Amino acid sequence: MEPFSNRVTRLFGIDFPIIQAGMIWSSGWELASAVSNAGGLGILGSGSMYPDELQDEIRRCKAATSKPFAVNVPLLYPDIERHMEIILQEGVKIIFTSAGNPKTWTPMLKENGLTVVHVVSSTKFALKSEQAGCDAVVAEGFEAGGHNGREETTTMVLVPAVANAVKVPVIAAGGIANGRQMFAAMVLGAEGVQMGTRFVASAESSAHPDFKAKVIAAGEGDTRLSLKKLTPVRLLHNHFAERAQEAEARGASVEELQQILGRARAKKGMYEGDMEEGELEIGEVCALVREIWPAEKIIQTVWNEFRTAVSNPLKMP
Ligand code: NDP
Repeated sequence: MEPFSNRVTRLFGIDFPIIQAGMIWSSGWELASAVSNAGGLGILGSGSMYPDELQDEIRRCKAATSKPFAVNVPLLYPDIERHMEIILQEGVKIIFTSAGNPKTWTPMLKENGLTVVHVVSSTKFALKSEQAGCDAVVAEGFEAGGHNGREETTTMVLVPAVANAVKVPVIAAGGIANGRQMFAAMVLGAEGVQMGTRFVASAESSAHPDFKAKVIAAGEGDTRLSLKKLTPVRLLHNHFAERAQEAEARGASVEELQQILGRARAKKGMYEGDMEEGELEIGEVCALVREIWPAEKIIQTVWNEFRTAVSNPLKMP
């Protein structure tokens, strides 16, 4: 496949503007390096890694690919100073930050020569990211899995709004798993796409096999936004999600919701495979994902579908 050139591919030094989201418990070095080797941008999801694990994952990723890759750091990670130290020490060149204020870390990261991208769910935060010096933003809509914006703005509305407001390149995320959806996002003003759910259902993802099986069996309406009083998160429906939603419906306090959530529930579900009591973070687009594929096949299929859509956008005969 011929490499493609636009602001996003040039910013990261990649062949295709397809980025794999940094996801807790799913995106370790095997997935990130496979995506990067296939010409996309692979991302290590550091939110579920202790600092020593992150260092080991970065080293393994460097050994498995000579292509660019990134690390995602959720800014509410408890030991964030240590994560940042390791990222600098290991010479990571690209960082995607999320779930926090872009002003806090971007200046230091830029001074150290990193390319910095921040994930946003509103135009207000896209502008803040640009002002803070970020090189690009990911505009992630309401369809997305995992942590989600309070504004509940869909990708269809968020991407053009952000693309109109900022000068830096916009990467669309939330609800994208195939090339026709990628084409739609690019028409709306994005210059690249970030996909999470599609890559959870990949051969190289470190998610538990039972979680992957549940993702490809899920249909429309099987995910909901939960725990809005804590950190809103899109989850597959199961016994835990039902309990959380019942509690929210009767107006449970933050303390009670925290007690229901407990600790390490995402690990219990996505990594250890407890399909009823674990937190199963996934996006709405699971309704369109029907097979577990190697990362390379995902990149090639999405890119070929995108090229076909570009040449025949209205599906005219
Ligand atoms: P919890 O507080 O319920 O549990 C913490 C989990 O993170 C545990 O499973 C723990 O592993 C692991 N962990 C890794 N490093 C540390 C550390 N330094 N201190 C404590 N625990 C650590 O949190 P969640 O599982 O809900 O979230 C974990 C992280 O993932 C947070 O930083 C959060 O911001 C991020 N996150 C990111 C998302 C995204 O979209 N990028 C979505 C959801 C969460 P162990 O059980 O082995 O101790």
